[in-house]
Amino acid sequence: MINYKKFASILMLSASLYAAEYTAEWNYTNKGPSRWHSLHPEWETCFLGKEQSPINISSLRAIDKINSLILRYESDSKNVVNNGHTLQLNFDNMSYITFNDTKYNLLQAHFHTPSEHHLDGVIYPLEGHLVHQNENGDLLVIGVFFKKGKQNPIIKSMLANYSTEINNQMPLEKLNAKMLLPTKYRFYSLKGSLTTPPCTENVQWIILDNPATASAEQIKKLRELFHNNNARTLQDSNNREITFTK
Ligand SMILES: [Zn+2]
Repeated sequence: MINYKKFASILMLSASLYAAEYTAEWNYTNKGPSRWHSLHPEWETCFLGKEQSPINISSLRAIDKINSLILRYESDSKNVVNNGHTLQLNFDNMSYITFNDTKYNLLQAHFHTPSEHHLDGVIYPLEGHLVHQNENGDLLVIGVFFKKGKQNPIIKSMLANYSTEINNQMPLEKLNAKMLLPTKYRFYSLKGSLTTPPCTENVQWIILDNPATASAEQIKKLRELFHNNNARTLQDSNNREITFTK
């Protein structure tokens, strides 16, 4: 005869172990970037990886190269979610880019304050990441710096609609991700990683040289929401190739 009580307790135990393993917590304070690799066996790359992000981008070291970047963004923002680490804007799979003839769909955009990448040693108050994925599952992230200036209409909508409840997706109006970008830019391209656990590498990064703008009030609100800091510490560039496309 099956001991149902015992069976149930084993089920509960394995469920809690599963939860413990797969929802290991990380943050930017007591479980911060210097400890991420020790918090979960699958996060070792955060320490062992050789092409980690973010880095300081040295314009003097960048090699001029022709790269083709074509943006095909639609007004397809779907919802905003506070995932406990950042505010994330999800898109409806209509927007895409092509980078050197490979198509990447726009999945989501989110923010770090202050900026994660530095440009010639300069730290901006805010950095947006537009995360794209190709049909093989490879990621491409466009990094855009923000300086204080005119308010940004997408950040405005996100701040007006997000829920303080973690992972609660809130609908918002259809907006075009183009509004997160400066009107004119050139770009750096380099290989790197996710800047949050599991710090997976082989991410194609495109960092725009010109900043977009957000109002002082918007930057302040995002900063307060992220407890003053949700930027990973700078990583070693390990002499990786950085190209610059004019
Ligand atoms: Zn990011």
